[in-house]
Amino acid sequence: RAKRDGKATFHFFEQSLDEQARRRREMELDLRLAIKDGGFELHFQPLYSLTHERLQGFEALIRWNHPTRGTISPAEFIPLAEETGLILQVGEWVVREACHIASGWPEDISVAVNISPKQFTYPGLSTTILQALTNSGLPPQRLELEITESVFIADVEHTLSTLHSLRNLGVRISLDDFGTGYSSLSYLRQFPFDKIKIDQSFVRDLAQQGNNAHAVIRAITTLADALSMETLAEGVEDEQQCRILREEGCGSIQGYLLSRPVRAHVVQEMLAPRDRRHALGAM
Ligand code: C2E
Ligand code: MG
Ligand code: MG
Ligand code: MG
Repeated sequence: RAKRDGKATFHFFEQSLDEQARRRREMELDLRLAIKDGGFELHFQPLYSLTHERLQGFEALIRWNHPTRGTISPAEFIPLAEETGLILQVGEWVVREACHIASGWPEDISVAVNISPKQFTYPGLSTTILQALTNSGLPPQRLELEITESVFIADVEHTLSTLHSLRNLGVRISLDDFGTGYSSLSYLRQFPFDKIKIDQSFVRDLAQQGNNAHAVIRAITTLADALSMETLAEGVEDEQQCRILREEGCGSIQGYLLSRPVRAHVVQEMLAPRDRRHALGAM
């Protein structure tokens, strides 16, 4: 009897693996179609400078408008795109689209684009970025590339040379999700990032008392100052967090307190002179 149960369980397990594989293949095919048919859209979230009390730019965040499943978040499909190598095509679209849209914004407003680890190691990345800049006419200093600490795990020498060649294009480079990796501090010595994006987990902790969250933020901003890097805190949802971040020397913020990611036409409305003054006054 026990044996039969075991067998049944095994059979069930097998089926579920089958089912998973089938679903994955289906998603991969859908992803290929989306690349071909323009199934993606960029949303944009404001980046606000506390230091200068002004809107600095927007982070481009991809959304997949799936024909039957609705909007799919990047957390769900970027890993699959990475595994299948399709991230190269998706990422190229993101860079082109972001530069194209941002080229229509005022000249003091920048755009930040996420570069995934696989995309980062692709030898054609610099060329892709240069072409996107040339075709759109966006000045390189208005493009920020966001990379995560995970790019250092592979081959540090290669990572550093890629970072320097990207920097030579004139674009800015941010270290995203700072503090979530294994040895975040060591990477800061190796490359002069323009900006450190403090991961939202640190911001979330600010709400509770007595967990040293203030001290951690202070330590990061002090270190960044010493290294001449800017700081931005991610995931700022309320006034209290914003006040503490300001007190602890954080340069900029991003989060639902200001705005959720919005479509390009909403960005245009936010950038209209009247609304822009309003957005500035809000903080
Ligand atoms: P990320 O680069 O760290 O982006 C910030 C994420 O935090 C976004 O999630 C944003 O919507 C969310 N967020 C912003 N403010 C708040 C807040 O106040 N509270 C909370 N709880 N969340 C907030 P999203 O858009 O779902 O993107 C998730 C991740 O997917 C991004 O994290 C990034 O790693 C990746 N991603 C997004 N777009 C792209 C892309 O075009 N290419 C690549 N390679 N990765 C992307
Ligand atoms: Mg990012
Ligand atoms: Mg981030
Ligand atoms: Mg994050």
